[in-house]
Amino acid sequence: MAAPHGKKNIIAGNWKMNLGVAASRALARGLRSSAEKLSKSEVWVAPSSIALEAVAQELKGSPIHYGAQNIAQEKSGAFTGELSVAMLTEIGCTFSLVGHSERRNVFGEPNSQCVARTIGVLKQGFTVVYCVGETLAERESNITSRVIEEQLVPVLQAISAQEAQNLVIAYEPVWAIGTGKVASTEQIADVHRAIALRVSETLGAGCPVPILYGGSVTAENFASIIQLEHVWGALVGGASLSVEKFAPLIQISEG
Ligand code: PEP
Repeated sequence: MAAPHGKKNIIAGNWKMNLGVAASRALARGLRSSAEKLSKSEVWVAPSSIALEAVAQELKGSPIHYGAQNIAQEKSGAFTGELSVAMLTEIGCTFSLVGHSERRNVFGEPNSQCVARTIGVLKQGFTVVYCVGETLAERESNITSRVIEEQLVPVLQAISAQEAQNLVIAYEPVWAIGTGKVASTEQIADVHRAIALRVSETLGAGCPVPILYGGSVTAENFASIIQLEHVWGALVGGASLSVEKFAPLIQISEG
């Protein structure tokens, strides 16, 4: 399916706590040629914070976007360990992930904090890839849609259609992340349809918010995922760590 009007599919790599500075630099360099002359897709990468500046140097003049894996909602101050919009903008970052399932479930960031980060950053005019998704227990208890609503609706209700121009939503079922278990195309289509509906009900039908799927995406399964309605790209972990695995996803998105 084509991305919302005026936007391209986003193929985003989350490098997590992998690759040091030299290896991140090498991967960024290796990806440059895969991201040239794309007509339907954009390539975004989220290296570790320590590698961001090296990646920025390596990607100078390339259309590849780079950004952080987490970001503070505050502009500055006593927030040890956090990164601000201004710090990231200074080195050319164009986005940050927020609410990744590892932040929520491994580090215990409550939903209220993920929501506050997202709203605070969007209100500063910076792009957020806001991650939502249910755990296996939640899916098995048939509360997937309620969980996604609780994660998403407070953000949608707090922002204007203008601020939503900088919002990207990533649907990532927690049980599919890094497990090799990809959600079925029906499961993906159902949740993406519900998210798209909620976005248009809250912000207006003309507000194009891209919705990415994440969870064990590989070149073997991506072709059937990207053609689904309301799927406008992928957030990719494991398969984003080498040119050999990531470049084919970009090609699949290009069709
Ligand atoms: C992720 O980290 O957002 C992710 C989807 O990881 P993986 O592709 O490895 O499942």
